[in-house]
Amino acid sequence: MNAPTSAQNLAPAYIFAPAPAVSLPVQDETARFAVSRIFCVGRNYADHAREMGHDPSREPPFFFMKPASTIVSDGGHFPYPALSKDVHHEIELVVAIGKGGNNIPADQALSHVYGYAVGLDMTRRDLQSEAKKMGRPWDTGKAFDHSAPCGTIVPATKCGHLAQGAVVLAVNGQIRQSGDLKDLIWNVPETIAYLSTLFALSAGDLIYTGTPSGVGAIVSGDVMQARIAGLPDLTVKVV
Ligand code: MN
Repeated sequence: MNAPTSAQNLAPAYIFAPAPAVSLPVQDETARFAVSRIFCVGRNYADHAREMGHDPSREPPFFFMKPASTIVSDGGHFPYPALSKDVHHEIELVVAIGKGGNNIPADQALSHVYGYAVGLDMTRRDLQSEAKKMGRPWDTGKAFDHSAPCGTIVPATKCGHLAQGAVVLAVNGQIRQSGDLKDLIWNVPETIAYLSTLFALSAGDLIYTGTPSGVGAIVSGDVMQARIAGLPDLTVKVV
């Protein structure tokens, strides 16, 4: 038997090819942002909490997750998912973490942000509502395939840290959601601080920060155009 080369020693063997790394384009960079985990904040604008039938008081934030594989890039397609008759759009500011940490103080949190993007937290509202009623997890309503469209990331060194600005989602040119980042119940530094007490954050994590009011159903053929002031649009077609 021949002795293995050092390269053979280093290369792991897999039963099947590993899933490809998920990544997003970064404005004016050839290198891409490799996505690790996707955290989402629930009910982070008072007007959306009210439209969903909840008290918008400032309770601690809560989180759910989506697999990185649910990302759809700008210009991509959102296949209308199975087993739902009520799929909703939720436009959200996405925070891209560039430096990890535990128990990050709010006053240092922005130094952990690589950049920002526009995202859509696509939701099978009927399955989520059923899960809420039954006290079950939200995964089937929230973490399904293609459920996390995300636009091009802009480094904070280019766009600054976004604390205010219009958040607008149009479907086929008609405005459905219109809010402002200044109305986040838990702002970006507070969200990072709180989340980092629950999970050790790492570079590559994304945080979808919650949606303003106006969430609603989409149908096949719709074109969703998501816009946050200072960031490139995210356009996704429902197919
Ligand atoms: Mn959401």
